[in-house]
This record gives sequence, structure tokens and C-alpha cells, in this order.
Amino acid sequence: MVIGNLRAWADAVAALPVESRLPVRTVLVPNEAHAHALRCELIARVPGALAGTRFLTSAAAARTVLEAGGVAYQLGEELRRPLRLRAWLRGAPVLGSYRAEELRTPGWEEAFASTIEQLELASLRPEDLERLDTPRATDLATIWRALDEDAGDSWSIPRLVREACQLLSANPAVWPYRGAVLAAVPFGITAVDAALLRAIPSLTIGSLFGRPVHRGVIDRMQALLGGPVATALAAPMPPAARTDELGVLQQYLLEPPGRLAGAERRRSRGPDGTVTLEAHAGIDEELDAAARWVAEEVFHHGTPLQDIAILLPSPDPIAALVADRLAALPWPIESSPVYLASGRPAVSTACGARLLAVVQALVNGLPASAMVELLPRLRLEGDDGHLSPGRARAVVDALGTIGGSAARPQDALQWRGRCAAATLPSARAVAPAVVALVAIAAEMNAGAKLAVLWASFRAFVAAHVIAPRAMGTLIDQLDAAVRALAADRVTVDVVGVVAMQLIADELVAMRLRSGRFGEPAIYVGTILEAVSLPFRAVRILGIAEGMFPRTLRDDALLPSDLRRELPPHSISSDEDFAALQLHAFDQVVRGVRERLVISAPRTDLDGSEREPAALFIEIAAALARPDAAGQRARVIPNRNDLERDAFRPARSSVSARRTDTPLTAACWLDRVASGEGAGPGSWSRSAILDPAAIAARRVTMHGDLGTTPLTQRVPGLEPTLPMSASKLQDLLTCPHRFLLAHILRFRARSTVAENHRIDALAYGALVHRLAERFWRTHGAAFGAREHSVVHWRQVAAELADGEFDELLTRYPLVGHGVIAAERRRLHRDIATLIDHDWDGGRPRAFVDVERSFGLDDEPLSVPTEHGPLFVTGRIDRLDVDQGIALVRDFKTGKAHPRERDEVDAQVQLDLQLAVYSVVAEQLAVPWGIPTDVAAMYVYVDRFAIHRERSFRADRGVLRALGRHWLELALGLIRAGGYVQTTDPETCKRCRFAPICIDDLRDRRTRLRDATGPVAAYRELTS
Ligand code: SF4
Repeated sequence: MVIGNLRAWADAVAALPVESRLPVRTVLVPNEAHAHALRCELIARVPGALAGTRFLTSAAAARTVLEAGGVAYQLGEELRRPLRLRAWLRGAPVLGSYRAEELRTPGWEEAFASTIEQLELASLRPEDLERLDTPRATDLATIWRALDEDAGDSWSIPRLVREACQLLSANPAVWPYRGAVLAAVPFGITAVDAALLRAIPSLTIGSLFGRPVHRGVIDRMQALLGGPVATALAAPMPPAARTDELGVLQQYLLEPPGRLAGAERRRSRGPDGTVTLEAHAGIDEELDAAARWVAEEVFHHGTPLQDIAILLPSPDPIAALVADRLAALPWPIESSPVYLASGRPAVSTACGARLLAVVQALVNGLPASAMVELLPRLRLEGDDGHLSPGRARAVVDALGTIGGSAARPQDALQWRGRCAAATLPSARAVAPAVVALVAIAAEMNAGAKLAVLWASFRAFVAAHVIAPRAMGTLIDQLDAAVRALAADRVTVDVVGVVAMQLIADELVAMRLRSGRFGEPAIYVGTILEAVSLPFRAVRILGIAEGMFPRTLRDDALLPSDLRRELPPHSISSDEDFAALQLHAFDQVVRGVRERLVISAPRTDLDGSEREPAALFIEIAAALARPDAAGQRARVIPNRNDLERDAFRPARSSVSARRTDTPLTAACWLDRVASGEGAGPGSWSRSAILDPAAIAARRVTMHGDLGTTPLTQRVPGLEPTLPMSASKLQDLLTCPHRFLLAHILRFRARSTVAENHRIDALAYGALVHRLAERFWRTHGAAFGAREHSVVHWRQVAAELADGEFDELLTRYPLVGHGVIAAERRRLHRDIATLIDHDWDGGRPRAFVDVERSFGLDDEPLSVPTEHGPLFVTGRIDRLDVDQGIALVRDFKTGKAHPRERDEVDAQVQLDLQLAVYSVVAEQLAVPWGIPTDVAAMYVYVDRFAIHRERSFRADRGVLRALGRHWLELALGLIRAGGYVQTTDPETCKRCRFAPICIDDLRDRRTRLRDATGPVAAYRELTS
């Protein structure tokens, strides 16, 4: 018997022979959703047939058989098998093609467990592998047999089905159900399930029809279930009754080309809304389209929620994103509008991610990078708040340790001592939580058992982790699973980091399920799960090349040459795997009652480009739409035809519907942005969203928008917010960057400090602190060249050690070797600076070090033609040499001597010196220095050929340039000319590059006709 759809399936159930007056039937189904759908169909079509009809999965049937036969077993071997294998390998077994010590590296246990499960599903045994007589197959058989012996009565599901099958074959009387049995089998049935079916007495097998039907499909079904099932599959399907595009597709999808080319076949008369093919720029656009489509189904077509399905090639990670996007629509109901058939990965929820962060931090030895992620989720002592990510970084940096690692787990305990000595208030507030976490790490390092670690972990989460309300439910679910493991014979002795890893594995594998199929909620699941389920409207996402149909992953333990030697059709081949997915797709399409949309994203979640899958060609060939001129198109269309006759019309229609009927917030935003209409009325009822209300309220500011006035202060315009040289540099290299960084105050997320070298910023600050201490104490004597240079080097080296040791208390460097190397670097660089400044013993009058200007108590403005510009800064060194005031700035980065294309003063390099020259000239009298000022950079780099970038000879030019640059800066601010730079090199090093995506040509075009300060800026940077 062949079963084409759910209706035929229900008919087949009703037609089962009834032996007694009370009808008793058993129907084997893939899962509970199919049982529910069949019950509904039976009630609708043959109401009397439901009474006495029992629905079971094959695994449930197998369990009942074993219970009837009095066989004792326990399930869950799938999870125990990798651990069992790990323990077995510790016994150093002798294998032919693998060395036992190699197999102890991570990943092998899971690989062997997965291959053995495949072999079990193929209804094979170790003897089948031994018959191949190759070293690898024999090793696999040896491992499998050893694991089975060790497992005893602990079985995986395939093993359970196989044992039931053997029992039933030997004694059919153990089949516990009276009456006829119906099983509707898909092409993808496994060999072990097929064997069980063959052993069930009074069984009627219906073959779930699916295309393509080729020789390989028929041969496999014949091998697994016998000739009649295969013959039924090869019979042609009766024509679909409906005459629209959906009917054409259901009849011709995946049919052979000969049938598609037939002159008498039915063809589409053009898009009629029952089948839509879409290609989207990316997954986000595809999700947005799906949300809008759901809204249209519900609000426009009045489709009940449970009659809508969104299907995907695989559940993770898109299904949860789809569910979230749909849940965000304005539903008038309290309950969740989405049913996730595969559940939601626990770690994709806020609670799960939080728990996983804690467990993984422990597994990895509490490294600094993990602590930065973790601290914002921990409770603070005496404070209801939490640390921000930036504050967490600051705390980790201040605690000055890199924590532990897989190689040095004991270093995780360093956090405890550092917390005790912490002075930073945030560090003290989070210290109790960190200390409790370290206590678990200590238990783990000491080899505590799984049960002990789990108890400590649970107590820690309850006391110290900031938890959303759902945390309790998740912890309880995890508790049940981990307690079972802790009591299990295989895992009871697992200790330390392996035990903690086991908790992480449990958490990662855990899925959260809510709701049931059939409740009023949109079905979101995979194509394979939805086979034969009936829906009024179905949308299939993600049909892109490589995503659907997928190919089998190569199995290194059982490669294709070995698979080919196994009994035919037992284990899935690549062709079987592809056919299984196409059959499922065909069955889903035939289950749609009104509307079907199939879409593909052109880019993946990770940004890689994808083409729509070749399946679209099959769909277009089955539809046989007329081309743009209304003529009959070619039998098998190409990509251009597909774009012209399918994707383009769908895009125009969607775009028109988005504008005409904006059902989601994204549609409204597009509509407003394109100037095609006003926003929805509800926006103007919210003070937060309505621009007019915002403008009105900024005057009074009573709290809706916070207390900060809606104006931004611009550096340089007022004494209390002066302009620094670095801000000026941003303004004059890219005014837009100045706007983002210093007016809007956008900040790049700070990163964890480097551990293998002191990062450039921290090293520069260290050298400057050291130089300040040296010259503040010894500047006058050193300038007078008292003592010898050797003496001063020695003094500087002692100071360097003190500064370096102080830095180590708050800067984490990994290992003694790195610390010694960085100490040597500091000694070398400070000696270089001393030698350079000694200048062969020629005396120089020292004035000051780190001389500041423009601070709050003494504001400083430089007059320009646009008004005063308030400036601030610190001059590293101020000396007087031969009647000239010498301004010097120390640089620890790359040297830029005045040569080749860097010979002249330029704003990117010399702005700081120019500003300091102007300021020193202006303040010469109060500072008691000559008005003739020269400036230079000194590079603290032993290997630099030129250690100075000096403007002593052309100091007047630099001061004039400085005044011009300050003038231009204020001009840009006054004109609000925050234009983007046209220099690609500037953008390359800019932290805002990811959000600054305008084309360089467009920027140049915008600057071409500029006047005033913007034109002057263009000249400066061109
Ligand atoms: S990316 Fe380029 S244009 Fe954008 S702010 Fe940075 S420097 Fe300016």
C-alpha cells in the first residue's frame, strides 16, 4: 500500500481489519505530532475509527515487547558510551591500527560513539565488521564489543529496538497488542526499525510516498521491507485535484525530466499566490520576511496559528531566532505563539548561557578572558546592581593575574589572594562571588567527585549568580540529569575537571521544550520532522546550496570504502541521505493545503555567500511557469530564468505589500525611511518614539528621556571642557571620527589586556611615569651633567624596577620568562632615553617634566579668528638650550624621522608638537622660558636609526602651522563640518570603520563643492 498524504494515512488506519466487535488497532508513528495529526484527521473523516486505535513509536513498541518478555535494561547508553570508552582506553588495550595513547586525545570518544550508533541503527554487530578483515574495521569491532560487554544491560535506543526485534522473531507471542498493526514507513527508515517491523505479527506496511523514485530507492526498500513495499512505491501517484500552482507543484515536483517535458502535462498559468519562491540578501532579511508573512497569514488570511508552519533544514541556531522574531510581533494573547518542535537549546537562553559561562570558566581554570565575561553576571556585595562589561574588564586588569589554564589549573586560585588585596571598590564588591567561585575551582583541582562539584556549583549559582526567573526551572532540569549521572556506575567515579566538563556537556545537550503539537501556536521545526504533517500555510527557509539537501559528513572511522563492503542498504550512503531529504521535502510540499513559500538567503549567519539550492530549479521545472512574455519556458530553467520568473516577481510583490500593508515594525520603518508615508499612529502616543514629543519634553525633562539635556558639549568651546592634542588630531584627520568619539562619545569595547607583552598604551604610560620620576628628582643635576652617564643609568634602572614591580600588581603577564623579558625591555629603553638626553655631556638647563596647561583652575584659550579655542595637555619635557625653549615629547612607538615623504610637518604626525609650540610661546613669560620655542619628538627605541623628529631649525614654520591648524579646527566646529575623511589609510586604522561604510567616491563627491572650513580641511588632507 502506498500512502500519499495524511488523509490517505487516516483512510489506511480506518481500513485495517477488525477481528472483534470492539475495534482494536495499533498504528506505529514517527512521533507524537503524527499521532495527534492522525487523530484529528480520523475524527474529521472516519469518526468511529478512533475508538480502540492505539498510537505508538517504534521505540515505545520495542520497550513494551521487552517488558512483556521480562527483559531488564536501562536506557541512556548514548551519553555513557564516550565515558566508558575513555575508561576502557586507560587500560591501554592493544589495537591493530590505532595506538591507545593516541586515542586518549580529545574527540576520539565522541567519534567512536557516533560511528557505533550508526552501525547499531544499521542493525549491524561487531561480527559484521570483523568479516571485512581490515585492521581498522577489526579495531572498531574490538572497541564496540568491549563497550557492549562493559555496558551490560545499559542500552542505546537502537540496541533496544534490536533486542526487541530478536525477542519478537524468536517468540512472536510476546507482541503485546491484539488486532491489526499499521506502520507507514518513509524511505529513510533505518535498518534496525525495518527489522523490528518485519518481526511484528499482523502488520500492514504502508509506504509513505516520496520522490524521486529511482532504482536506488526501490532497491533499498526492497532490501529492508520486501518486494511489495518497493512495488507500491514505484506506482504513479493519482493526479492532484487542485488546479492552482500548488496543485501543479504537488503533482510534478521531483518527477523525471521526461514527464516534465510531456506536452499533455499541467502547467502553471503564472504566480497565483499559492507558491512563492524568494531569495533574500541574508538571514536577517529572510527572518524579517518570515515574520511579516506570519502576520499576513494571521491578520489578512485569518489562518489559525496551529495551521502555520515555518520549516528549516536543521533546527540550530535559526529555529530559536525565528521563534524570538515571531514572539516579538504584537500578539493579543498571553501564551507563546510559537511551538518549537525540537525545543530550544538551553544554552541559547539567557539562563543557560549564564550557567555555561560559569562551567566553562571553571573547566578552563578561570582565565582572565573568561572572568571578564563572567563578572557582570555575578552579584555584588551590598549592591543590587552588577558590573558593566567595561567595569569588569577594569576589575580583571586591576587584579593583575591571568588566572589559570588547562596547563596550570592551580593558577585559578590566584584570584582569591588578589581579591583579598583589592582596593578598587568594584573589585571588593564582587570579591565574595569570586572567592566562592575559586573555592569550586580548588575542589575541582583536588579531584572532587561529580556529585560534590554539582552540589557546590548549584549552591554557588543560587548565592552569587544574577539569575532571571527561569533559572530555577533550568537548574532543576539540569539537577535531575546530573544527579542521574552522579549515581551511574560509569560516571560515579568521574572527578575533577572531567566531572565539570560532564556538567557542561549535559548543559549543552539540554533542550527546553514547552507546549505540544496541535496547541494554538505556529509550528517551527525541521523539514524532516514535519514530513506528512498537514498545514494550511508553510514557509520553508534556508534552502541554499550546501544547506539543503546536505551531504553526509565523512566518517574517518568508517570511510566510504569500508561502508561499501558492509551488507547492502544497511548503512546510509550519500545517495540514500540525499534521497531521504528530498523525499521529506516532497512530503512536506504535498501536505500544504493553501500557501507555500520557499526561500533562500544569499549569505549565511557567518557572512559566507550562498547560492539558492539546485532544488529551486526542480521546483521551477515542476511549476513550468510561463516566461515574462507569457510564452512556454524551457523544461529545465536556468538560474537567469529562475531570477526572472520567480525571485524578481516575488520581490516586487513583497515590497509592494510591505509598503501597502506594513504589518511589522520593520515594514513601518522602511515605509517612513523611504518617505512613502507617515509612521503608525501608535508611535505618536509614545513619548519615547514620537519626535515631536521628544522636542517638546527636552525643555522640561521630567524623566522620560533621563535627566541629561539633549545637547552635546563640544570640546574646545568652554574652559571646563578643553580640547586635547589627541582630540584635535581626530578632528583634523577625520572630523567625523571626532563627532563619533568626542561629541557622541561612542567607544569601542575595550579588550582584555595582552598577557604576553605589555600593551602599547600601558607601556607608553609606564615609560612616561618612570621618566617623570627620574627627572622630577634629578632633572636639574642631570641637566647640569653632574656625575657620569653610567651613574644616571644606574639610578634610572633602580627606579625602573620599582615602577615595573608596581605595574605587575595590576597588569597580568603570563609566566616568569615574559616578565623578565618585559623588565629587560624597560631597562633597555630607559637607558636609551638617558643616553640620548645626555647628549655627549653637553649641559642643558632643565625646566620641568610633565608640565601641564589648560586645567580647570587655569584654563587656557588660544585666540583664533573664529574665537577662543580652549586647549589642554601635558608637555613631557621642557628645557632651555642655547636660548631656545625646547619642548620634547617622548614616543615609545615606531620612529618617524624627517625624511622622504615625512620630511615636512604634517597634521597626522606633528599636530601635537605644533600645538605645544604655540602654547609654550603663549605661556613663555609666566613659565619663565624664552619665547623662541622649538619642538621635537624623542623616540625611546634602541633600534631606531634617528631618535628625533626635530623642528628646531624650522621652528617658526611649525608654530605658524600650529596656529593655522587650531584656526581650522575651531572653524570646523563652528560650521558643524564633521565630514568623513577621504583618506583610506586613516579609515584602515580607525575603530569606527565597521560602522562607517560610505563609499570613498561618494565622500569625495560630497567634499568637491565644499566651501569655508570644510574646503580648507579638504585641502589639508588632499
Ligand atoms: S572610518 Fe574613516 S570616515 Fe569613518 S570615522 Fe573612521 S576615519 Fe572617519
